[in-house]
Amino acid sequence: MDYQSFFRNQLAELKQEGNYRVFIDLQRKRGNFPAAVRTHKKGQDDVTIWCSNDYLGMGQNPDVVAAMHAAVDRCGAGAGGTRNISGTTHDHVLLEEELADLHDKEAALVFTSGYVSNWAALGTLASKIPGCIVFSDSLNHASMIEGIRHSRADKVIWKHNDLEDLEHKLASADPARPKLIAFESVYSMDGDIAPIAEICDLADKYGAMTYLDEVHAVGLYGPRGGGIAEREGLMDRLTVIEGTLGKAFGVVGGYIAASTELCDFVRSFASGFIFTTALPPAIAAAATASIRHLKRSNTEREAHQAIVAKVRKRLDTLGIPHVPNPSHIIPVIVGNPAKCKFLSDTLLDDFGIYIQPINYPTVPKGTERLRITPSPVHTSGDVDRLIVALHSLWNQCQLARQPMAAE
Ligand SMILES: *Cc1c(COP(=O)(O)O)cnc(C)c1O
Repeated sequence: MDYQSFFRNQLAELKQEGNYRVFIDLQRKRGNFPAAVRTHKKGQDDVTIWCSNDYLGMGQNPDVVAAMHAAVDRCGAGAGGTRNISGTTHDHVLLEEELADLHDKEAALVFTSGYVSNWAALGTLASKIPGCIVFSDSLNHASMIEGIRHSRADKVIWKHNDLEDLEHKLASADPARPKLIAFESVYSMDGDIAPIAEICDLADKYGAMTYLDEVHAVGLYGPRGGGIAEREGLMDRLTVIEGTLGKAFGVVGGYIAASTELCDFVRSFASGFIFTTALPPAIAAAATASIRHLKRSNTEREAHQAIVAKVRKRLDTLGIPHVPNPSHIIPVIVGNPAKCKFLSDTLLDDFGIYIQPINYPTVPKGTERLRITPSPVHTSGDVDRLIVALHSLWNQCQLARQPMAAE
């Protein structure tokens, strides 16, 4: 086989569909985010990032940066081992205590990323519990899907956020078999939110465990940033709450929070937890500082919701269609991969505005979109420039508009 030409052909196919991924080379500027410098073939430009998952700008928060610096000076660069062999530093222990407290659970377990936490925790629970059936929401994140697949457990996919379909599927399963319902709170591409209480009711009725991915909600919702389950007073009803330290908390890493026994079980059996070097202590220290800050401060959450509402309103006055939802994510559906990429390229090259096009397989074909994530660190001027740019592009490309809302 001619391996190189195989790779080339596969990539050519992606490019032809408009689904080839192009990375934008950025240097974020501490204190100035969402401003960044973009390096490209012809030089460097200043850009404003409008698609970051550093939703609150915590990646540049002075407490967080100071905690990271201090830990590097105290401990050096790396953890020096897996968690089992010399890599559990005091910073990891403190972080896990902080996370257990955040979600009002007995324990928490930190992984190298949110992806790994889903993959390892779901993979371990579903494979080690004899006869376990996993009930997985149809729009679950790739990391959950891969974890469930890896477990080789029986899997039943229920229609997205559809309680009737979930109940029908739970009722059809053997009552004697263990069950695990896996779902998310805020779905990151459409920004819709799961009916958590009702799903927990069904779990109780059919004797199932619940596994909730709060990756796009932790830090952002609830009085202490514990997520949607905290906001709705439901944390104690969930068997496992999973989250990331890499999005609203602005650092990197993932975790589960659950009972002492469950965390100890995953700690003891999950290959993806055991056989990998622990996160650097400086990462753990920075994440702890970020969580602590957002437990005490509502300022960032309130400013976040305010700017999201403002951007939505400005889009409405221009008739630029966006998917209405109860969260902080503003999806502008373009519905065609090439067009979506063209819009994104033009925003970047002509306006210095960076919004990554979201194409298949991240979203279904025909729903390609620009996913806008406003943050409290965007200024009124940033919003004005975004709106002017979108308005001009919608004219230039003769894209459809909705009836315009009054100013
Ligand atoms: C980003 C994401 C993850 C993975 O988290 P990372 O910390 O980035 O690895 C898991 N679940 C969902 C829903 C996500 O969007």
